[in-house]
Amino acid sequence: MTSYVIPAHDIVGLPVAGTADLFPVRRVYCVGRNYAGHAREMGSDPEREPPFFFCKPGDAQAVVPAAPNRVLELPYPPQTNNLHYECELVVAIGKGGANIAVEDAASHIYGYAVGFDMTRRDLQFKMRDAGRPWEIGKAFDYSAPIGLIHPATDAGDINNAAIQLDVDGVTKQSSTIAHLIWSINETIANLSTLFTLAPGDLIFSGTPEGVGAVVRGQVLEGKVTGLSPITVKLV
Ligand code: MN
Repeated sequence: MTSYVIPAHDIVGLPVAGTADLFPVRRVYCVGRNYAGHAREMGSDPEREPPFFFCKPGDAQAVVPAAPNRVLELPYPPQTNNLHYECELVVAIGKGGANIAVEDAASHIYGYAVGFDMTRRDLQFKMRDAGRPWEIGKAFDYSAPIGLIHPATDAGDINNAAIQLDVDGVTKQSSTIAHLIWSINETIANLSTLFTLAPGDLIFSGTPEGVGAVVRGQVLEGKVTGLSPITVKLV
């Protein structure tokens, strides 16, 4: 039996709908500005430039399972006065590979979930404007709450699903996965030219327009048609 000089950390397991089994998380990739409306509200031109990526940690300090039918209490992070929600379709990779062709990409998908790419917008913009990495704006503790993983075979027509986020019952983001600038399959193909994908990887596919600040006590509900919704309260 292997033993370690300090306690080894645990893998995050996300519950899978319809089973008692868990999806083991490896890396968390995120696509930037993948809806034209959101690119505009971030002050950039939504022309079809190549997708770009950033990462969040895949460990339990960042990835938080959000069970259905209950409110996940998410600690408001330190060092920010402008915490934003970004509701996203999360793609769970079941089969790895590099240089995956667009037409083969679907066969690499295990399933889908709803996730929030929580963002310390003030820190992200400060780093962006200084030409520095985004980590402190994006990769902080509890920055990636994610709901049940639904196997792709059970998720319906995900490429045309509606995506919505409500804050305290008021709809703030409302779009469709069909509005992705880079489709799920195109995103997987492009990402796999940069990194060898592996089973357990997650891809946050981007957020539609309507992002905004959230404060302690507010409740976020995220939905994608065909998937379990998630509910998060900032505490
Ligand atoms: Mn995002």
